[in-house]
Amino acid sequence: MKSQEIARRWVDYFESKGHTAVPSASLVSSDPSLLFTVAGMVPFIPYLTAREDPPYSRATSVQKCIRTGDIEEVGKTVRHGTFFQMCGNFSFGDYFKEEAIAYAWELLTSSLEAGGYGLDAERLWITVYHEDNEALEIWRDKIGIPVERIQKMGMEDNYWSTGQPGPAGPCSEIFYDRGPEYGIEGGPEADDTRYIEIWNLVFMQYQRGAGTGKDSFEILGELPKKNIDTGLGLERLAMILQGVENMYETDQVRPVLDKAAELAGKAYSSTEDPTDPNHANDVRMRMVADHIRSSLMLISDGVSPGNEGRGYVLRRLIRRAVRAMRLMGVETAVLPELLPASRDAMKGVYPIVETDFERIARIAYAEERAFLRTIASGTTRLEEALQVSKSKGGSLSGEDAFALHDTYGFPIDLTLEIAAEAGLAVDEPKFRELMNEQRTRAQKDAKSKKAGHADLAVFTQLHDAGDVIFTGYEELTSESTV
Ligand code: ATP
Ligand code: MG
Ligand code: MG
Ligand code: MG
Repeated sequence: MKSQEIARRWVDYFESKGHTAVPSASLVSSDPSLLFTVAGMVPFIPYLTAREDPPYSRATSVQKCIRTGDIEEVGKTVRHGTFFQMCGNFSFGDYFKEEAIAYAWELLTSSLEAGGYGLDAERLWITVYHEDNEALEIWRDKIGIPVERIQKMGMEDNYWSTGQPGPAGPCSEIFYDRGPEYGIEGGPEADDTRYIEIWNLVFMQYQRGAGTGKDSFEILGELPKKNIDTGLGLERLAMILQGVENMYETDQVRPVLDKAAELAGKAYSSTEDPTDPNHANDVRMRMVADHIRSSLMLISDGVSPGNEGRGYVLRRLIRRAVRAMRLMGVETAVLPELLPASRDAMKGVYPIVETDFERIARIAYAEERAFLRTIASGTTRLEEALQVSKSKGGSLSGEDAFALHDTYGFPIDLTLEIAAEAGLAVDEPKFRELMNEQRTRAQKDAKSKKAGHADLAVFTQLHDAGDVIFTGYEELTSESTV
């Protein structure tokens, strides 16, 4: 089943249950304290927090999302993209736990002919918050899941709150068992690669009081109007329904991966095994495919490369993709080959990527050219520094490596590689130390900029999950490859 069809079935199903279909909002979140839309619920925050009256009591959407917090996972796990689409259904003071669970179950397990996704019920595992007996009973008694396939989880995994006084409540998640060839038995608790999280149901049930952080606060009572917020990863369901090994091999991503393999003249071997000699290149190809798609979608939503905030995220995605191709031996411009492949894979669902492609491509290609120039001039500068270090019989200093990174935007891994070719070591500990100092300065800077933004509270939970509020500086300095 193609991704487009998965989305269509989603919306059809929830429309048939009285939900209003709401088109995806932009990746650029309308709230200035949040860089990107990180979940399907983001556009509905005013309704979920009861700050505004919703124009409907039930809604459904397939929301474009960006999670920069997952960037290091991309290509290494089977399930994390920087861009992905979250299918959601929402109830604003309307139906609650029992219906939300019943809908999820029906849609996942009813047959393809009946409009469902036809998943094998026996492969589905459930997690509930350990104190949420109500959810446990619904799954066990109303749906009929054997208790062996229901696992209780703590606050860390299965509790949602804003981190501030406001709505809060338990979650219940649905996992798919890919089978014994993918890992050890024992449910999601035991193995998160064999058992893939596909759907999170959040039951906004309580009013939380003050208290610190995510897991130490007071519950003041039940909310007068309880809400449902759910999110299913479209790509994760696609990987299951399409019978592929990971989300990068699904129909909207795979063509870019194939193009990257073709350009590099290397076979993609689809391995998840880090000891496999093909693994490093496989990870690179998956990363390239992901980052190119994210870049396409970001530029399409109005982001341009820059040195901070959203623009910096985009710059970093493009540079990481270019760099990964370079590590596979491709030193010429790659975006003119890769971006159209991504456009063609996405245009069925997002026609704008085709109609606006000239503008998107102009921005993307210019960014790649600028980066290639950076690499060229940085290489010259590095070679000079290497000459001097060599004549002194030492290694390349941490200061030199830092200056190359800081002033020229020259990637440290490239410095290491070229230095190694010249038979020289690099004082990496010193380089890291200088990077850390810069990060501390930048964090202070970012903190003072953020202070006083009242609306931030709403997003703290997402932040706690590590998925939100990208302060360009933090990532600028924590990432070593670009
Ligand atoms: P994980 O534990 O796998 O990182 P999560 O718990 O962070 O996922 P949620 O915040 O619960 O994810 O988001 C709801 C759903 O969105 C997830 O169940 C998953 O299907 C999907 N999803 C979340 N993050 C990603 C991502 N980076 N790429 C693709 N799908 C994602
Ligand atoms: Mg999770
Ligand atoms: Mg989750
Ligand atoms: Mg996550």
